Amino acid sequence: MGAEPAVVLLSGGLDSATVLAIAREEGFATHALTFDYGQRHDRELDSARRVAQALGAARHLVLRLDLRAIGGSALTADIPVPQGRTVEAMGAGIPVTYVPARNTIFLSHAMAWAEMLECQDIFIGVNALDYSGYPDCRPEFIEAFERLGNLATRAGVEGRTRLRIHAPLIRLTKAEIVARGAALGVDYGLTWSCYAPRPDGLACGRCDSCLLRAKGFREADLRDPVPSAP
Ligand SMILES: [Zn+2]
Repeated sequence: MGAEPAVVLLSGGLDSATVLAIAREEGFATHALTFDYGQRHDRELDSARRVAQALGAARHLVLRLDLRAIGGSALTADIPVPQGRTVEAMGAGIPVTYVPARNTIFLSHAMAWAEMLECQDIFIGVNALDYSGYPDCRPEFIEAFERLGNLATRAGVEGRTRLRIHAPLIRLTKAEIVARGAALGVDYGLTWSCYAPRPDGLACGRCDSCLLRAKGFREADLRDPVPSAP
């Protein structure tokens, strides 16, 4: 019998690349799922493709979902991305880079694909410690969604499968995530984190995502292979 399938949400960022490597390490045949949702930083879609290939995903599905039509976020509307904030400022309140209900929307699609694949395991790279303040990155949200998944699907109701949502990074620091991925051979040079890439193609080095990434590499005592603006 072959490896059990798992659906892995893959954005192309550092966290989800690490999660893909963890799912593979746990012996799953990984089915990577990426959303082209109208994000301004669509460079991460290329990263997702390269990461899926490098980490041997059995399949990689890119779904188009136009969240720009809904808007409401600095990632999907013409709202400035905050720059140069301290970690304390990032931790105060829910940032404008929050995309309305994004992880609920993403996990719902992952759940549909998992049911189709007769797969019980979904992996997501949410993190409750990276000061992001996103409500859909909390352990309570993941637990609630797992309960929902077992009520909402034919596979769950018929008792054929018991859905599990794996969030292996949820209580790790960015430095611990980077160290874990490096140990699993993740090429972070393929990943993309910046919310506001510069016209010359460099990561801005000043958005929350760039600053948290830099802090993670610094504290893990590793070098980030992706160059950013000075
Ligand atoms: Zn940036």
